[in-house]
Amino acid sequence: ENIRVKQVIGEIIENFKFVNPEFRMLTRLEISDDCVLPVQKNHFQQMMIIILDNAMKYTRDQKEIRVSAAMETGLLAISVMDYGMGIPEDELYLVTNRFYRVDKARSRKHGGNGLGLAIAKRLMEGYAGELQIDSVYGEWTKVTLRFPYKNEPAAGSGKEV
Ligand code: ATP
Repeated sequence: ENIRVKQVIGEIIENFKFVNPEFRMLTRLEISDDCVLPVQKNHFQQMMIIILDNAMKYTRDQKEIRVSAAMETGLLAISVMDYGMGIPEDELYLVTNRFYRVDKARSRKHGGNGLGLAIAKRLMEGYAGELQIDSVYGEWTKVTLRFPYKNEPAAGSGKEV
């Protein structure tokens, strides 16, 4: 299955805004309209929902989320950034572990089990991609999904018109 990245991100953001209208969503999708990825749509949606949901849960009064997409050499990077509580540097490598949550007491009030990012990371590995987390504690968090990307359509896939 191939997804049209721009279109699918657009749908996910529209759904997110419908449910969370208090958020300002800023998007910067620097990819062409016909950019496609060989990813199952429900997998892509699940990963995006996990990281958008986190961006929303762990933000404070700054209700703004930035979604961007850009080509890097051989890769397509999609990221979600929030200006919330951030993640301490020494815990960055831990938050994709199953059941790991920063500051248990504080996190409890936001619900969740600490599974979302572990699931997203596994899914990315299934596509030979990567999930990267950057953060400045107390300021912002940026979660980036990097997919291998070939400019040519995959052999035999034909070209949609
Ligand atoms: P759930 O199982 O519902 O996804 P969760 O949000 O706790 O629960 P993860 O998505 O795996 O689980 O996130 C793990 C931890 O990483 C969170 O508990 C939180 O402490 C931290 N975290 C994740 N995203 C962010 C973010 N955008 N800003 C700050 N902290 C974050």
